[in-house]
Amino acid sequence: MSDIKLFMFQSGTQQCKYHNIRMNQGKGENYEIPVPWFLLTHPDGITVIDGGLAVEGLKDPHAYWGSAADQFMPVMSEKQGCLEQLQNLGIAPADIRYVLLSHLHSDHTGAIGRFPHATHIVQELEYDYAFAPDWFTAGAYCRKDFDRPDINWQFLKGIQDDNYDLYGDGTLQCIFTPGHSPGHQSFIVRLPSGPTFTLAIDAAYTVDHYNDRALPGLMTSATDVAQSVKKLRHLTEQHSAVLIPGHDPEEWKKYSLAPASYG
Ligand SMILES: [Zn+2]
Repeated sequence: MSDIKLFMFQSGTQQCKYHNIRMNQGKGENYEIPVPWFLLTHPDGITVIDGGLAVEGLKDPHAYWGSAADQFMPVMSEKQGCLEQLQNLGIAPADIRYVLLSHLHSDHTGAIGRFPHATHIVQELEYDYAFAPDWFTAGAYCRKDFDRPDINWQFLKGIQDDNYDLYGDGTLQCIFTPGHSPGHQSFIVRLPSGPTFTLAIDAAYTVDHYNDRALPGLMTSATDVAQSVKKLRHLTEQHSAVLIPGHDPEEWKKYSLAPASYG
């Protein structure tokens, strides 16, 4: 596990409505989105990117996630939790050096606190906002996932830390892409023997969102959403990267999930 490789995972799906993903579009029809997350192996340590939903919520989704479970109902088994999927790959919790978080919505926080040696990296703006979110986005945050003792946090400072290079060799760069949430970040992953990927995460839910044909159903700034997409398109072109949107059911089918890997 010391070669540079990207693994793609999915912790089930969420059942929602079409307009939750493409604002003001559709006629209220049902929609189902994948919940992706990623793993990057590297000689200087392994990174988990996001980590899907917390398995603890599955027994009683309403008790755990509150009203968010009405809008985004998880369809997931305990076996699809991040720990168990990593164990199937032969990766133990102690092997993880970084947990890198795009933002703190509950479909991205399932890995926090499960890896004893991991530094957890998040945008400071996101961390602060998650403790005091606005009413219309509060349901997306599940405080018990991230308000935990004994977590070693590293905070990135927005535009000041833009293009933060995690390993110092250009393999994994953090791109500040606010809008969906105040401290959202996306990632560019450059594989020495494979493609370069733009992991937009929720800065582009879908290809429609990436191509200025949709806004996400949930956001804190439409202007920032549009500017962040523009920035990601520019970087993706510059790196000749492959774009992976955050929750696009059609796009996600094109990729091979772990144990397959890229790079
Ligand atoms: Zn999401």
